[in-house]
Amino acid sequence: MIYLVTGGRGFIGSHFVEKVLEEGHEVIDIDKMTYAASTKLPFDVNPRYTHIKEDICNLDHLPNCDIIVNFAAESHVDNSIESPKIFLRSNTDGVFNLLSLLRAKVYQKPLFVHISTDEVYGDVNEGEKTEDSILSPSNPYSATKAAAEMLILAYARTFGVDYQIVRSTNNYGPRQYPEKLIPRIIHSLETGQKIPIHGDGSYVRDWLYVKDNVRAIYKVCNSDQKNQAWNVSAYNYMTNLEVVKNICKWKGIDSYLDHIDFVENRMGQDYRYSICSQKTRNTLGWSPIKSHLYNFVDRWKNNNG
Ligand code: NAD
Repeated sequence: MIYLVTGGRGFIGSHFVEKVLEEGHEVIDIDKMTYAASTKLPFDVNPRYTHIKEDICNLDHLPNCDIIVNFAAESHVDNSIESPKIFLRSNTDGVFNLLSLLRAKVYQKPLFVHISTDEVYGDVNEGEKTEDSILSPSNPYSATKAAAEMLILAYARTFGVDYQIVRSTNNYGPRQYPEKLIPRIIHSLETGQKIPIHGDGSYVRDWLYVKDNVRAIYKVCNSDQKNQAWNVSAYNYMTNLEVVKNICKWKGIDSYLDHIDFVENRMGQDYRYSICSQKTRNTLGWSPIKSHLYNFVDRWKNNNG
């Protein structure tokens, strides 16, 4: 099959491209190469991989493909609070442009798989959100992701576009840009700097290893049950402080609090995210292999991540 991937040089997208190439498919990757993109990747030499440097907002046609998997996005919440417009452009306008191009090809029925986020539900003080829960985003990033989902529902109903929406929890693993919590902790410890932690560090996230997520996305791509949303989660809940404590433990550091600089809380901070992934687990036969905060750092250095 030919996979058209967008944002395949970013963190999750690059692991997905690796998975799809391993499965024997061809990949055309459209990535405009923001600061978060990798300039060098192990699959650059693979003859089944092609990179086109382009903004999804400016595309005027879609290369021939069987499936489109859209990872392209601005992805850092803090940046969306500082400069929301670029988020609206890439995360919502970009999806609108892809849908418009797909509409012209609807007779060929390429499937549109959109990578969304658990953040579209907003924070969850108790219990878990299911795929049918209402979307209630709290920050500009999650609002632009939720807006994209609404456009997809409309294009499916009005124009017959086939889609899948994947909402996953916080990913971690190799190649993540160090603005995000886990690589920032590792980078700070390795360079002798204090780790900046928002507020009192009590905010709860569910940490999913990136390779587990791409296995789930690949299963969603190949499912017969289309036009649905799929939650992907690890039930691996930790406060930000617990994440720091765990990574310090990997590095043999006991006094983790000594390494933290508590900084002003993020505006509109979500207290807790929590989604139920039973539908994805039961229907697609998926579950995460890494159900704890997995020490990928040493394994990855030995090419064994
Ligand atoms: P990332 O920031 O690491 O990578 C994004 C990639 O998209 C980059 O390579 C960038 O160059 C590219 N890109 C951005 N705007 C583009 C545009 N307009 N046209 C073409 N390419 C563009 O992001 P990530 O962490 O890999 O996230 C990928 C997707 O997964 C995003 O849609 C994000 O919302 C979603 N997601 C991420 C997480 C997470 O924990 N990282 C969790 C849930 C969902």
